[in-house]
Amino acid sequence: LALPGDVRVTLRREMIAPQSGRAFVVQAGERMRVTDVQGEQVADIVAFALPDVREAISNGRTIDYNGTLRLTAGHVLYSNRGRPMLTVVADTVGRHDFTLAPCSPEMFALLHNNTDPHPSCFENLSACLAPHGIAPDAIPTAFNAFMTVEIDASGGVSVVPPTSKAGDYVELRAEMPLVAGVTACSAEQSNNNAFKPIEVTIFGA
Ligand SMILES: [Zn+2]
Repeated sequence: LALPGDVRVTLRREMIAPQSGRAFVVQAGERMRVTDVQGEQVADIVAFALPDVREAISNGRTIDYNGTLRLTAGHVLYSNRGRPMLTVVADTVGRHDFTLAPCSPEMFALLHNNTDPHPSCFENLSACLAPHGIAPDAIPTAFNAFMTVEIDASGGVSVVPPTSKAGDYVELRAEMPLVAGVTACSAEQSNNNAFKPIEVTIFGA
């Protein structure tokens, strides 16, 4: 039975609470929409192949093979084995980052002199991916949806507020079975100093 092209079945919809993370198993052909519910909120996205989770999303391969830092609809996110993992099929923002590591306790200490307990994407990804057999050391640089990183002419790097507004989203089609970790980022600087939720919706193939 052929259905009209834009009819899609919602398999799962979850709200990721501020400063937390969740894991999602996604089959080949399914689409994962990551929505910035309130605006100016970054979501770190990592992905690992199933069943062999040693294959993971690779920022180096992806930037190289696409020839751009400005990844958006039509671009493919590659694995560390050079295979297409996720294709960006929709993007209402057009501005994301795939260069900086997930925020971590070490980052808060180094850059902000903050050694107090503080949620981080690295710890949130580690926790939600552990049940899938993924160790903290295996967590790669994330595709940082809605994160805006400026690189000046001398190579200086700075993080500025996202350009995303309430309801903006990026949608990724899985090109292989995978488990994705998605966060609502915990870093003050990345989110214009306010922590908001992120919604994830999985659509059927
Ligand atoms: Zn973060």
